[in-house]
Amino acid sequence: MTPSPPAPIHETRGKRVLLAAPRGFCAGVVRAVQAVERALEIHGPPVYVRHEIVHNTHVVRSLEQKGAVFVEDTSQVPEGRTVLFSAHGVAPAVHEQAAQRQLTTIDATCPLVTKVHKEAVRYAREGYDILLIGHAGHEEVVGTLGEAPDHITLVDGPADVANVEVRDPGKVVWLSQTTLSVDETMETVDALKAKFPQLISPPSDDICYATQNRQQAVKQMAAGADLVLVLGSANSSNSQRLAEVARLSGAGAAYLVDGTPEIEPGWLEGVMTVGVTSGASVPEVLVQDVLQYLAQRGFDDVQTVTAAEEHQQFVLPRELTRSRP
Ligand code: SF4
Repeated sequence: MTPSPPAPIHETRGKRVLLAAPRGFCAGVVRAVQAVERALEIHGPPVYVRHEIVHNTHVVRSLEQKGAVFVEDTSQVPEGRTVLFSAHGVAPAVHEQAAQRQLTTIDATCPLVTKVHKEAVRYAREGYDILLIGHAGHEEVVGTLGEAPDHITLVDGPADVANVEVRDPGKVVWLSQTTLSVDETMETVDALKAKFPQLISPPSDDICYATQNRQQAVKQMAAGADLVLVLGSANSSNSQRLAEVARLSGAGAAYLVDGTPEIEPGWLEGVMTVGVTSGASVPEVLVQDVLQYLAQRGFDDVQTVTAAEEHQQFVLPRELTRSRP
């Protein structure tokens, strides 16, 4: 990742599109999707996937067409078959359940989520109370909580801080979900530090590079946009955060849409500048479809707003690099 200085947005008198960069697939999503495709090549269909491999309807449908079967629990996978764990990560108990049922497992957890799991295990072993900032019920949070349930307290935003209790205020650390709003998380951390002055921070950012870069690009374009369209599914945390960041950064309006059919023509009335971006699990083809839709309505001047360049890549899960079809 290379942060770039904000690029000037040139003035125009016509309708225009500000296109955020970076946007769309992050390295963790590329790895997870390729893991399912590779598992299908090696094992043949059906390959079972616990939970949506990434939170995007289009990605899930396309993998289903290739032979992936999505389930919510390992108990739904026939004994002896292969199951992939999604990019959001799973609790150790899920690995144990899979082993009991003699399932072959492929762990597509994003390495940046695994990093947070390892931090949780280490701090718990050292006797810390861990305050995990994240959204209750989100798959990633459920997985991280499962690493050290007796040591972790979930803090779901600044309003939740008043309810937080710890055993020893001198031994407390905060960690976070990888896909949160950077600004809201720092608000929560400030409130936690006011309550627990000895609170320590994680050794490096838990909110991942992809989440941070996409939010930064949206911030740079939102103030100049009458309307921001964020491509992403409703259950995608990082996509939801992009729409929120756009609203808070001065966009006239911001909507999260799964694709062009969800755009309401009325949203474009009186609009001269539309910002476009996409969440970390969204295929670029959907963005290009929106750009075509907008061009047909006079928004054919597309300016890219670049916040950072990304070069991050992850190797496939080791269970796949060891096997050959
Ligand atoms: Fe990994 Fe971040 Fe992508 Fe999630 S959004 S898969 S944590 S790189």
